[in-house]
Amino acid sequence: MRTIGIIGGGQLGRMLAMAAARLNFRTIVLEPQADCPAAQVANGQIVAAYDDERALEELAAACDVVTYEFENVPVSAAERLARSRPVYPPAKALEVSQDRVVEKQFLNGCGIETARFHAIGSQAELEHALADFSGIGVLKTRRLGYDGKGQRVFRDESDKAAGAFDALGGVPLILEGFVAFEREISIIAARGIDGTIACFDPAENIHRQGILHTSSVPALINEATAVAARSAAGAVLEALGYVGVIGMEFFVLADGTLIANEIAPRVHNSGHWTEAACVVSQFEQHIRAITGLPLSNGARHSGCVMQNLIGDDINGVPAWLAKPNAFVHLYGKSEARPGRKMGHVTWLR
Ligand code: AMP
Repeated sequence: MRTIGIIGGGQLGRMLAMAAARLNFRTIVLEPQADCPAAQVANGQIVAAYDDERALEELAAACDVVTYEFENVPVSAAERLARSRPVYPPAKALEVSQDRVVEKQFLNGCGIETARFHAIGSQAELEHALADFSGIGVLKTRRLGYDGKGQRVFRDESDKAAGAFDALGGVPLILEGFVAFEREISIIAARGIDGTIACFDPAENIHRQGILHTSSVPALINEATAVAARSAAGAVLEALGYVGVIGMEFFVLADGTLIANEIAPRVHNSGHWTEAACVVSQFEQHIRAITGLPLSNGARHSGCVMQNLIGDDINGVPAWLAKPNAFVHLYGKSEARPGRKMGHVTWLR
C-alpha cells in the first residue's frame, strides 16, 4: 500500500499527511478550497466538493485506502467509495456521529450513559420537553453543530423558550438534560484492522466560548474513571467494527461517574498533545491503523498541557518558541480570524 486519500483539507488532514509521510506513504487530499492546510504538505489535492462523484472516483483510483478528517463527510460519498476501496473509519461511524439523537441512542445501546434527551421537531415539542427537564437543558441542532455553534442553554425556569425553535433555524433539534459536571475529559482510542485496541491516557479539557482552550494530561480523575473511559471507547470501537482513531468526550460527575457527550470518528483536537508527550501521536496511530501496521500502545513519556492558538493568539508564537518545553504546531492558515484555530502549543511538565 502506498497512497492514502484524505477527505477534508483542514489542520487535522495536514497533521495526518505529515504523519503518513514519515511512514513513507503518499497522500492526496480532496477539498474544495485550494491550497488548504492539508494540501500544503500532501502529495496532491483534488479541488472539488466532498460529494462530487467524479472527484470521488478520481480519489479512489489514485489511492489504496481512503480516510477523512471531519465527520460531516456525506455518508453516501463514503459508501460509494467503499465499493472500490477500503474506507476507514467505516461509513457507519459517520452515520452515528452526524446526528446527536442517533449518536445518543447508539451510545445507550452500547451500555454507555449519556445525558437524558428529547428529539425536538417543533416549538410545541420543545416546550413539552423543557417542562420535563424543569426548564433547564441544552438545546442543540441534531446535525452540523460544532464548537458550541447551533446551541442554546436554558439555565432556569425564567429562561423563555418562545421563538427558540425558529432561532436555531427551524431544523431538527435535541434537548439534552443539563449535566452538572465537575470536569470534562476525552479519550483518544484506536482500533486496527486486526481488531487490536489501544487507548491514549484521558485528557482533561477546558472550553472557552464553546471552543477547546486547553487539554491537560494526566486528567485529575481517579483510576476507576480512567478505566471506565477506556472501556466505553472500546465498546464503541467494537460495536462499529471501527478501524482508525476515534475521539470520545465525556462529562465527569463529582462521584467520578462518566456521562458520554459525543464521539468524533477521526483524530481529535483534544489529542494533539500526543505528538509532544507520547512516543507515537494520534495522527501516526491513525495512519498505522488504516494501513494495517502495528498500533502503538499509547505510551506517554510526559505530562503536558496543549493550548489552542485561536485568532490573534498566533501573535504569541515567538514567545512560545522562546520557552524550553514548548512544542509549537502551526496550520498554514494565512488569515487569523476571530475563533479560527491557527495552531496549537503543547508544553511538557
Ligand atoms: P458539544 O457541542 O456537545 O461538544 O458542547 C459544547 C460544550 O457545551 C461542552 O463541552 C460542554 O461544556 C457544554 N455542554 C454541552 N452539552 C451539555 C449538557 N448536556 N450539559 C451541560 N453542559 C453541556
